[in-house]
Amino acid sequence: MQGGDLNCNATNCSHNFDRQCKAGSINVGGQNAMSISGTNCTTFIDRAESSFVNSLDAVDTDVYNIRCEAYKCVHNENKACYADKVQIDAQNACCDSFRCE
Ligand code: SF4
Repeated sequence: MQGGDLNCNATNCSHNFDRQCKAGSINVGGQNAMSISGTNCTTFIDRAESSFVNSLDAVDTDVYNIRCEAYKCVHNENKACYADKVQIDAQNACCDSFRCE
């Protein structure tokens, strides 16, 4: 079943409020990813480089709101994510929950 928790440590993203993603939906890239470092959240907006400000009451993002290109991940099925929990990394906004098939 799909619908785990999304937790995001990229606190420098404009969508991030207290480690909760308020983008509503996100895209994770990494078509050729064989490891965590090959993935990244492409919805990430660097707070320091953008005037975009998301609203605190915007929609929470859950795992079923993820569209993911990292098809070699065991949790990926037709670009949907079926992980129980997804953790986005602080450094490069990569997906720490990626596990290669
Ligand atoms: S856990 Fe796997 S399928 Fe889910 S977002 Fe991360 S890389 Fe994509």
